[in-house]
Amino acid sequence: MSTIHIFPFGDVDEGVLKHLCVELPKRFSNMDVVVEKPLPIPVHAYVKQRGQYLSTEFLALLPHKPGLVLGVTEVDLFVPGLNFVFGEAFLGGKVGVISLRRLRPEFYGEQPNTQLFHLRALKEAVHELGHAIGLHHCPDPKCVMHFSNSIVDTDHKEPDFCEKCSALATTLIRRLMD
Ligand SMILES: [Zn+2]
Ligand SMILES: [Zn+2]
Repeated sequence: MSTIHIFPFGDVDEGVLKHLCVELPKRFSNMDVVVEKPLPIPVHAYVKQRGQYLSTEFLALLPHKPGLVLGVTEVDLFVPGLNFVFGEAFLGGKVGVISLRRLRPEFYGEQPNTQLFHLRALKEAVHELGHAIGLHHCPDPKCVMHFSNSIVDTDHKEPDFCEKCSALATTLIRRLMD
């Protein structure tokens, strides 16, 4: 059985990491999840004018491992052309990264809600790992592979693949892990 390696970039909320360890295997063919030693936040990825970090630099720094690799960071990520991203992945490249920055209700001036925060992090993690195994965006707004333009989209979708994406995910994981 293959492994999902989680690499925190800098200090990352422990509760989220624990939640991902429990919930990710249910969506990814019961793969093991291991939290690896944290990597430093790449200072060269910081763009001062925006106060944000270029997410592709985080992806490039993640070590390649057998199985899947997910970076998790608290800092705000962007890619050129978008104001921000919840995460990014190399399509079919087995590597993805997510930012927790915009997932806490406090970011939107709302009351803290750990359960909601963990659920959002799970959705973004499943989404980016979905890309990492080769899944594209799904037109079903309830499917975890639906594109999130805002936290409203994230909250609207489920933390699970739709039937079609789920069947495809199983095939892709089997192929990748051979
Ligand atoms: Zn996406
Ligand atoms: Zn789908």
